[in-house]
Amino acid sequence: MSDFRYTAGPTRVVFGSHTLADVRPEVERLGRTRVLVLADPGLGTLGDRVREALGALAVGRFDGAAMHTPVAVTEQALALLREVGADCVVAVGGGSTTGLAKALAVRTGVDQVILPTTYAGSEVTPVLGETDGGIKTTRSSPDILPETVIYDVELSRGLPLGITATSAINAMAHAVEALYAPDSNPVTDRLALEAIERIARALSRVRVDPTDADVRADLLTGAWLAGTCLGAVGMGLHHKLCHTLGGAFGLPHSPTHAVVLPHALAYNAPHAQDAVRRIGEALGTTDAPAAIHDLLVETGAPTSLRELGLAESDLARAAELAAAKPYPNPAPLTEDGLAGLLRAAWAGERPT
Ligand code: NAD
Repeated sequence: MSDFRYTAGPTRVVFGSHTLADVRPEVERLGRTRVLVLADPGLGTLGDRVREALGALAVGRFDGAAMHTPVAVTEQALALLREVGADCVVAVGGGSTTGLAKALAVRTGVDQVILPTTYAGSEVTPVLGETDGGIKTTRSSPDILPETVIYDVELSRGLPLGITATSAINAMAHAVEALYAPDSNPVTDRLALEAIERIARALSRVRVDPTDADVRADLLTGAWLAGTCLGAVGMGLHHKLCHTLGGAFGLPHSPTHAVVLPHALAYNAPHAQDAVRRIGEALGTTDAPAAIHDLLVETGAPTSLRELGLAESDLARAAELAAAKPYPNPAPLTEDGLAGLLRAAWAGERPT
């Protein structure tokens, strides 16, 4: 038996196909009348479609979101938000665009309606990571949590296979670490296992037909459930390592999560045996770390930090940074242990 405290998030979720059409009624439901549209710069005309769906409610548009939410970009968007007098932001895009919406909301109190196009899961967390002067800091507050999330399966049907795989493993990582979190509870346990099962099942099918709506729905549901876990319980070694590698070495977010996950799980496995057994059951295997590595290979995702551009000479510094501040984690965090983990992840070894 273990004690826990659990707070359910109040975010409203609209899920389906062609739910982009719900954006205007959802903004009206919040009682908002002046919307700044935040559109992922890589998504072509999608921002136009959102703007059209909002009609006269849309009073401005900003397409400049960038990974890891740089404060300088937030300040540009903030100036526009104030100039047009917006009382709501509608964000369409990946975790970077969601991050910008959160950064604006926490500074101004505007409401947020998010239409995710990747599987980052950020849209259901009260967490915001921002970068300033090369340093990434994270904060958590109920003001950061979006009011409404509109999951429209159609928006991710064209997500390229490479980003599909790494983004889905990013979501899986939230669920994996939720299962051995010190504040895990029966709700997040169930959500996490369901997320892992759906994501693994969908990833093994998505290459056959990347536009299959059922497969995309499984991935999006998995991202929602896994993101809910991330928002509800504390994350461990895997997330801290990826945070260090992204913040200090500029590695890309979801590919880094994909590469590190099998190794972080293998490192924690001897100290989180029950969680790892359940993760294995959800994946249909008795060796969860190796199965996640194999899933990366099968989906064409990167398997090594080397291919993401980390220099071998950076490994010692990365281990030192990752061991610098203690945090709850099943396995003890030693600089030597982390150096071994990072070397295996750098080389892309299959965990044993
Ligand atoms: P991203 O938003 O930067 O998108 C990655 C790439 O995918 C971009 O080039 C984008 O244009 C493209 N893209 C997005 N959707 C697409 C689509 N449907 N079709 C084609 N291309 C598409 O990356 P991400 O991995 O979604 O998010 C990463 C960011 O989210 C990081 O800043 C990370 O810190 C943050 N994040 C935060 C949380 C949290 O809870 N705070 C959780 C997860 C991620």
